[in-house]
Amino acid sequence: MTVRDVIAGYWPYVRPLRWWMLLGLVLLAAQSLVGVVEILLFQQLVDRVLVPASVQPLLWIAGAYVGLNLLNAVLSGADDILGTWVSQRFLVRLRTDTFRHVLQLPQHHHDNRRLGDILSRITSDIRAVESFMLGDLTAAVAAVIQLAFLLGALFWLQWELALASLVVVPLMWWVATRFARFVKDVSRERARRGGSLTAVAEEALGSTALVQTYDREDDAVASFHRQNRGIAAAQMAGARVRAVFLPIVDLAELVGLLVVVLLGVWALHTDRLTLGGLLAFLTLMVQCYRPIRELGDLLPSMYDATAGIERVTELLREEPLRDRPDARTLEQPAGRIELTGVRVRYPGADRDALDAFDLIAGPGEVVALVGPSGAGKSTVARLLTRQLEPDAGTVRLDGIELADLTLRSSRAAVSVVLQETMLLDASIRDNIAYARPEASDDEIAAAARAADVDDFVRALPNGYATRVGQRGRSLSGGQRQRIALARALLRDAPVLVLDEPTTGLDPDTARRVLAPLRAASEERTVLLITHDPVALEYADRVVHLTEGHTVATDQPDQSEPHTEFAGSMR
Ligand code: ADP
Repeated sequence: MTVRDVIAGYWPYVRPLRWWMLLGLVLLAAQSLVGVVEILLFQQLVDRVLVPASVQPLLWIAGAYVGLNLLNAVLSGADDILGTWVSQRFLVRLRTDTFRHVLQLPQHHHDNRRLGDILSRITSDIRAVESFMLGDLTAAVAAVIQLAFLLGALFWLQWELALASLVVVPLMWWVATRFARFVKDVSRERARRGGSLTAVAEEALGSTALVQTYDREDDAVASFHRQNRGIAAAQMAGARVRAVFLPIVDLAELVGLLVVVLLGVWALHTDRLTLGGLLAFLTLMVQCYRPIRELGDLLPSMYDATAGIERVTELLREEPLRDRPDARTLEQPAGRIELTGVRVRYPGADRDALDAFDLIAGPGEVVALVGPSGAGKSTVARLLTRQLEPDAGTVRLDGIELADLTLRSSRAAVSVVLQETMLLDASIRDNIAYARPEASDDEIAAAARAADVDDFVRALPNGYATRVGQRGRSLSGGQRQRIALARALLRDAPVLVLDEPTTGLDPDTARRVLAPLRAASEERTVLLITHDPVALEYADRVVHLTEGHTVATDQPDQSEPHTEFAGSMR
């Protein structure tokens, strides 16, 4: 990415702040001016007080110093507050927008990404964008303004000497840009390693049980250590570059200063400058080096930021799921679903996950979708919940294409029980209410009864207030699944999708999880994704799926009566 791309890309975030930034620059310019005036006052101090040893002018000079000092305090305080406010406004907006964007990305993006990597993008890498767009660019303008005032004062004091003092500038510039090239490589490496470190740690810490039971701690530690050492190596490389180049820059400054002192003797001798003038000149000159150095440092600092910026931009460039401009809402959906000729291929996959897939299901039936692993069953669930758009074919709800509906209204029509029960570290009540935060206690209790959760929850010492622990680890698999079902029922959507709800459950527990489906399906379309024979007992119709397309549809043996009917939800 070029500097121009970055500025163009993030300008919308800077635009609303531009007048405040301008005010910040005015404050900076005023501070530079005060700084220059203070130095010129120093000339007066030497020439009128120190050299003639006279106290009287000290009165007004001291007064002026105090006044300037107070003025500077006000200016720099205001500038600091304004600068922080502007950069925080920028950061808050960009960070929230990026977070929202990531949450809106289709599920398969999340499948292929490490959590730690995304986390470091929305935290530290976003700071890089801020330091580039606000920090570095303002610093550049500020340095130029300051330099302009200082150089103006130098030429005003003694133009010949001013010209001479400028000879070292090209040398310093050359050194600084060389320095920048090295720093660029080092910082990129550091940013990359930083992201990997969190990713490695996140993966191992997210599956500590796996790591421990397979005795892979050493490997996990080794790969963590490798990334960690990588960061250290990048930091060391940075230190070496600084160790060599900073003294060179210092030396260049010193040479410049000595040249001017030599010429200063001549200027004093020929009465071109008073002693106070020469001292002020030297002070101004030393002050000049700082903005020059800052301008030189700016390039490495900008390069430092580009690695982070690229990582944020890459994330923002991914297409989120969005409503079409003409999307409409669906009131009171009945829940008839119809997939025709659906084709889906995941990015980077070498074959279609679904290919010419058809499925029709309506309220009052439980349709089981079975097939070997990888057949595309979960992809069907993703299509229905709008976590994925089909590449071809249509997915309809009550005869309307899902893509023509708003995400919100089409998702409101479909509730899901996911294979991997996602329970939050909250109370059982809150976990169920997640589907509909405004639900009353009665509604929650009704959903819990319908999902056969009520009995075991009431037996717990804290009842519905019991916290489930991280990812519900304190509950059994069947209990977790029934809470997930209660949550899905509370949503009261006309389509209910269950993705392998009985994975890992014994037949009796599986039956307890599935039993409520009969009643639930009276007014709903239930799609049961499964390969569990027990689950098939609860299906009215079975659709067999292989390699992305339907191979057969049949009616299972319905002779066996379903015994456990839970009360209707509606
Ligand atoms: P099932 O639920 O029947 O096991 P899925 O719908 O999960 O099958 O997957 C169907 C196919 O799509 C599989 O071949 C799987 O490897 C592929 N697939 C699923 N998710 C992704 C993804 N994020 N990226 C690439 N391929 C994927």
